[in-house]
Amino acid sequence: MSNTDFALAVEDLTVSFDGFKAIDDLTLYVDKDELRVIIGPNGAGKTTLLDLICGRTKASGGSIKFKNEELTGIEEYKRVRKGIGRKFQTPSIYENLSVFKNLEVSFPEGRSVFGALKFSCTDTVKQRVNAVAQEIGLGDALDMEAGLLSHGQKQWLEIGMLLMQEPELLMLDEPIAGMSARERELTADLLKRICIGRSVIVIEHDMDFVAQIAHKVTVMHQGKILAEGSMEEVQSNPKVIDVYLGH
Ligand code: ADP
Repeated sequence: MSNTDFALAVEDLTVSFDGFKAIDDLTLYVDKDELRVIIGPNGAGKTTLLDLICGRTKASGGSIKFKNEELTGIEEYKRVRKGIGRKFQTPSIYENLSVFKNLEVSFPEGRSVFGALKFSCTDTVKQRVNAVAQEIGLGDALDMEAGLLSHGQKQWLEIGMLLMQEPELLMLDEPIAGMSARERELTADLLKRICIGRSVIVIEHDMDFVAQIAHKVTVMHQGKILAEGSMEEVQSNPKVIDVYLGH
């Protein structure tokens, strides 16, 4: 497989903060239809890597290509339009709006250039809201005020808001933090569904959850990739046990 066949190609990526290399000459390839999980100790650079891919942080060197297009130098909001979605740990939903409205305003034309919310409920938008609501398991909660949803449902709603923008690469930071066992199971099913036709990158600490969802695991340490492979491969890697799993 040539490097140009991957959906996401990160090559020789480096970022320094006051001389400290948080990401150090890192190369990573992610396929379409792939669910990649990134693990590693605190401070390994996992969040910084996602910040660089979504454009929140500027790289000091290297390249990030998505579908063969160089992203370095492109602003964060423009990367969203190119199909890159990022979910942070704390959901940023509109608590006083219904589930339906939250999804509606997340449609690409749902916000004016000044950031004001636009409610343009055309049939196309309605259909898309319904399809996404089904996908995230909130099909029966469309009229519910988002603030009244459970913690897990709020997380799924935010994933739904990202899906409204039809991302082709979705990045999620610890998606099951604070969830009940049942919500974790449903989130695993959801992530397995949404990686079909796109690429999904998840940062996660819960190894049982990682084993359930990961197609491939990347282990980061000190801004570099320490190991990469199947869950079985990384779990039995002495270097990984030494710096992460053995603690
Ligand atoms: P992880 O997500 O793996 O816990 P981070 O990506 O948050 O790790 O952080 C990697 C390293 O980079 C840490 O040492 C952190 O303190 C440092 N770092 C991250 N962002 C900044 C920043 N904006 N300024 C200075 N140092 C930073």
